[in-house]
Amino acid sequence: MDGLILIKYGELTTKKGNRKFFIKTLEQNINKILKNYEFEIECDHVRMYIKCFLKDINLIVSDLQKVFGIHGIVICHKVNTKDEVFSLSLKLLKETSAKTFKVETIRADKNFPIPSMEFSRQLGGYILKNSDLKVDVHNPDELLKVEIRKEGNFIYLSEIKGSGGYPVGIQGKGILMLSGGIDSPVAGYLALKRGVDIECLYFESPPHTSLEAKNKVLSLAKILNKYSGNIRVHVIPFTKLQETIYKNVDDHYVITIMRRMMYRIATLVAKDEKAKIIINGESIGQVASQTLSSMSVINEVTNMPVIRPVACMDKLEIIELSKKIGTYETSILPYEDCCTIFLPKHPVINPDLEKCLEYESKFNYQELVDECVKTREIITNLNDEKNDLL
Ligand code: ATP
Ligand code: MG
Repeated sequence: MDGLILIKYGELTTKKGNRKFFIKTLEQNINKILKNYEFEIECDHVRMYIKCFLKDINLIVSDLQKVFGIHGIVICHKVNTKDEVFSLSLKLLKETSAKTFKVETIRADKNFPIPSMEFSRQLGGYILKNSDLKVDVHNPDELLKVEIRKEGNFIYLSEIKGSGGYPVGIQGKGILMLSGGIDSPVAGYLALKRGVDIECLYFESPPHTSLEAKNKVLSLAKILNKYSGNIRVHVIPFTKLQETIYKNVDDHYVITIMRRMMYRIATLVAKDEKAKIIINGESIGQVASQTLSSMSVINEVTNMPVIRPVACMDKLEIIELSKKIGTYETSILPYEDCCTIFLPKHPVINPDLEKCLEYESKFNYQELVDECVKTREIITNLNDEKNDLL
């Protein structure tokens, strides 16, 4: 064991009452994400250390950058004595290409006899004397940080940014309506970032939608899984219900009714899975079913909160984020979704609730909805090789 990574919690430490639970959850999530490495976690209420082999350290850091709840990642060096701090600081700085430096000391252990400013001055003086480096307090090439703590003295150069947010799971669970599009994976990512554990729900309509379309959704779930670690996918056999809708409902209302059915099914699955919210990738005004009037008529079928993380983002902003999180290339694969097959020419943009109720009274939708929920396929281990589909 010769690598040491310091994890900074950031936002998490401000929630004092829940701190213990936050840290425990973060530790579990890190254990899940790093399961292929040999490492050891040590933590207290302010920070966490991961001891690992030096050869794995960069790979581990890059995986840790996907773990929500981590705000800063620091590769650090722990030494015991003041002399060791001085000699190692000099060595680390000389190994960089920096020409200028600045020392910052934090003295968390107030029993340590030298005040932080004085310590920085002494260490800075030592480095100046033993190298060609110059001090620049305003814009240094390298900022050398020293933390003096009871458990040891820590030296580190630069802090690597973490993903921020809250550890996945601390907010309970949500059901993500995951299509193969660009928006819903981004919505899922944003929900995970706020600490919501997600299960995915996908509506498929074979033979109108293909196996490739389903595999694409599973691939997207797998990408999201890198940020969480235990996502399951519920696949709803939607064909019968969708065909019944098309038989009984006028063209321009089919999408509205179909989406009301999707919300009904999502609500039942959420209750089954003890999820508290539904999450989807709707964005205000993007298509006819996402005008405010449509949203309110569709939303009317459920009293479960529906969270739309990308509701107020422009398409270009959503695309940018999807590229950053790694879902874009999969999302643009050209397979049809059940929402895009038989798309009517003029879907209603201001649907009338009374009309929806009238259409829905024409067939026994509840029975079909229940059947969809009961016969759903649940894919539990996305990382299994048999799920390596694309
Ligand atoms: P795009 O990125 O092309 O807009 P989309 O997935 O957002 O694709 P929309 O028709 O805008 O497609 O659908 C709005 C939302 O409804 C989606 O973001 C998703 O949450 C949900 N949804 C649509 N189709 C499905 C489906 N087949 N299964 C699960 N959820 C779906
Ligand atoms: Mg969309």
